[in-house]
This record gives sequence, C-alpha cells and structure tokens, in this order.
Amino acid sequence: MSTTPTRQQVLVFRELPPDQLARLQAQHDVTVANPRLLEQLPAFRAALATADGLIGSSYKVDAALLACAPQLKVISSVSVGVDNYDLQALAARGIMLCHTPGVLTETTADTVFSLIMATSRRLVELANWVREGHWTSNIGEDLFGWDVHGKTLGILGFGRIGQAVARRGALGFGMPVLYHSRRPVDLAKDAPELAGKASHTPLDELLQRADIVVAMLPLSNETRGLMGAREFGLMKPGAIFVNGGRGATVQETALLHALNHGTLRAAGLDVFATEPLPMDSPLRTHPKVTALPHIGSATFETRHAMAVLATSNLLQVLAGETPQAVFELPPG
Ligand code: NAP
Repeated sequence: MSTTPTRQQVLVFRELPPDQLARLQAQHDVTVANPRLLEQLPAFRAALATADGLIGSSYKVDAALLACAPQLKVISSVSVGVDNYDLQALAARGIMLCHTPGVLTETTADTVFSLIMATSRRLVELANWVREGHWTSNIGEDLFGWDVHGKTLGILGFGRIGQAVARRGALGFGMPVLYHSRRPVDLAKDAPELAGKASHTPLDELLQRADIVVAMLPLSNETRGLMGAREFGLMKPGAIFVNGGRGATVQETALLHALNHGTLRAAGLDVFATEPLPMDSPLRTHPKVTALPHIGSATFETRHAMAVLATSNLLQVLAGETPQAVFELPPG
C-alpha cells in the first residue's frame, strides 16, 4: 500500500512564478512572505518558526535568523551566489543549501559582454546624446570609442560565467584571454574551445597586461575588497573595468579614485557593495560609469529556469532525494 508523503512547511521569501508556486503547493503547505516588506514581516517570522524548507533570494540569512527556524532542513536559493547565507552556521546546524548554477551562465555572460561593449563604445552616453538632441552635425573624435575586438581580456574568476565571457571574447572577438583563479583550469579537458586561447596568469600580471578587466568572482572572505587602490593602480593606462560578480569584491572608493585621478578609462558595473545603489553614490551618475541594476540573469527565460531549478532542489530535499544542485558547505 502506498503512503501519501507527509506535507511539510515551506516558506517562500521572495516571489516565485505561479507555475513553480503551484508545484510546491501541490505537495506542501506553503507560506509566501517577503521579509523586505514591513507588512509581511510578522507572517515571515511566524512561518520561520515551523519551516522545514525556505526558498528565495536576496535576503541575509544569518545565525540569528536560523535560530528562529528550529525545524529547518533546507534552504533553496534562487541564485548561484551564496554570499547572503552564513555558511558556517548552516553547516553547524546540518542545514542543506541548494543554489542555481549553470542555468544563468550564458545570460549573465551576455550582460557582462554588453557592459564591455557599452563602456568601450560609449553606447549609453552616445544614445543619450542623440536622445537629448545633440546630433546636429557629423560627430568628431571627441565622441569616438575604442575597439573591443583584438584587445586583451583579463578575467578574475574563471568559473562557469568567467569561461562563458572568455568564449565570447576569444571566439567571437578574437581577444587573447588572461584569467586569474586559485587553480588553473585544465582547458584541454574542461573547456577545449578555449585551449590555446586563455592563460592562467598571476593577478598583478593580468592587471598590468589586460585592456579590459572583468571581475566575475564570488564574494568570500578571500575576495572581499580584492580590487583596491593597489590593484587599480596596476591596470594599464586607458583600461576598462567591468564587474559582473559581486559589488563587495571591489573597494568602491578606490575605484572612484582610479576613475577621477588615475588612468582608468571607464567602468561597467552590474553589482555594487550596497544594492539598490544609494541615491548619493557617486557611481550612480559618474560620467565614466555605466551602471546597471544587477540584471546579470534578469531575462524572462533565465529567471524562470532559475525558479524551476530552485523549486526542484527544494522538492527533492524534502522528499529525501539528492537535489540537482547542492552547494558544498564548509565542514560543520
Ligand atoms: P563558479 O563557477 O563557482 O566560479 C567562480 C570562480 O571564481 C572560479 O573560477 C574560482 O576558481 C574563482 N575564485 C573563487 N575564489 C577565488 C579567489 N579567492 N581568488 C581568485 N579566484 C577565485 O561561479 P559562477 O557560476 O561563474 O558565478 C560566479 C559569481 O558570479 C557568483 O558567485 C555570483 O556571486 C556572481 N553572479 C552574478 C550575477 C549577476 O546578476 N551579476 C549572476 C550570476 C552570478 P578557484 O576556486 O580555482 O579559485
């Protein structure tokens, strides 16, 4: 005789598409409560007390919050980055953390490449210039940009997305690629299309040689503030910096200094130390900065694919199965 699986308590802390919410509701008791909205905070807190599983993103889950969730078995993050979670506290409690690697790789690389193009060719600045009615005669040198094809591309963080950016640069734009990561990637085995086109390079050398530096790093104790005054100072005169990883890997005051007083040509930023970007941040209106509102994975297709994977992960863990994408926690 088959038994009906027990319904468990699921707390959705950031809205899910209706079809994925329905998948959860078919099997479990679901509360949707967004703790960022003051009026939903009491419902969030109440649901936390009995939650077996959480699903959502963009909210700090620290040890104090976990202490309010005594039954919690799993958190399914609708993101690949896991810097919002206290990994040590999760490990200590034996709570599983799932995330959404892979499904957002190509879309995020597209965003990063858009920033490379936008900064090098001054796309946003010049589109605004046309919109504002300044195009009244042929343009002169003062509005010229700089080539992207053939330039040396430096990539900090050569994982899934870093490699996808490298493919666009090396295969589409003929760019030699230098990359920095703690371990070299076995290109012949893991990324044969990049073999002979990308080289593992020490950070300082990469910064000195690259025309365009892309940071595609996860945020960790090791990468926090990795790009500071010394690093920006090493960059080639006229180089461009793009950040598609996490804002806090960059010391923003050092970046501003390099833009204002150094030789950095421009910066393209999808991520910031504080998000949404504060109204008084000089990065918001800086003439050399193209700032995006953290849209790396923000297409209809990819955000839906992330929700599907995160929902599957959660359902699998609650069913006692191995989830598709679990994040390996440090030893508890
Ligand atoms: P991934 O496959 O895990 O790649 C991470 C890369 O960073 C690896 O090459 C890793 O290599 C390197 N790395 C880690 N720590 C390092 C350190 N201390 N120094 C140098 N390199 C280091 O992750 P992914 O899927 O490419 O995603 C990367 C990050 O992008 C995510 O963690 C997330 O924060 C961010 N992201 C942003 C958006 C957006 O909307 N803008 C979207 C998706 C992801 P080693 O381990 O060999 O060092």
